[in-house]
Amino acid sequence: MTKVLYPGSFDPITKGHMNIVWQASNLFDEVIIAVMQNPLKKTGFFTLKERMEIIKELYQKVNNVKIICASGATADVALLYECKAIIRGLRSLSDYDYEVQLQQMNKEISNNKINTICLFADKEYQFISSSMVKEVFNLDKNISRYVDKIVEEKMLKKQRSLIK
Ligand code: ADP
Repeated sequence: MTKVLYPGSFDPITKGHMNIVWQASNLFDEVIIAVMQNPLKKTGFFTLKERMEIIKELYQKVNNVKIICASGATADVALLYECKAIIRGLRSLSDYDYEVQLQQMNKEISNNKINTICLFADKEYQFISSSMVKEVFNLDKNISRYVDKIVEEKMLKKQRSLIK
């Protein structure tokens, strides 16, 4: 059984992320989405728990997609969950530079046990990023093209609770 780990901040999960998950779930037996705690990015829109709950709701009926929350080195998390590789999504040349460094570090940390596989989102999702979604949302513009309805509803709910 080939398991792969898809790590990220997912604050929030977008249709770009979901397209990558869909592709990976067709290629491998199991995809584990890891909502990673990044100590350098302390504040987010959603808490880690909220992000995980949203993703769980989105994939509750999909058998080969699991969700975890983790911290520390991604390569260690991949080893712990017996994943063969880490999945990353590539959008642009600027993503590429960063991902090249990241995959090398993950190889070193795991003694060459963990490789990285890069996938490309379908054309219509390629430009979407979580930060762009948050910016558009803060301008009170419609984000339904970029995130699932469930995510949009949770964002509106969270916004209302922050205003109170
Ligand atoms: P972001 O970079 O949007 O804040 P994450 O850290 O949550 O997102 O990203 C996790 C992974 O998903 C990264 O490999 C990132 O490049 C990838 N990704 C995010 N959005 C897209 C997209 N629209 N198309 C392809 N890959 C994506």
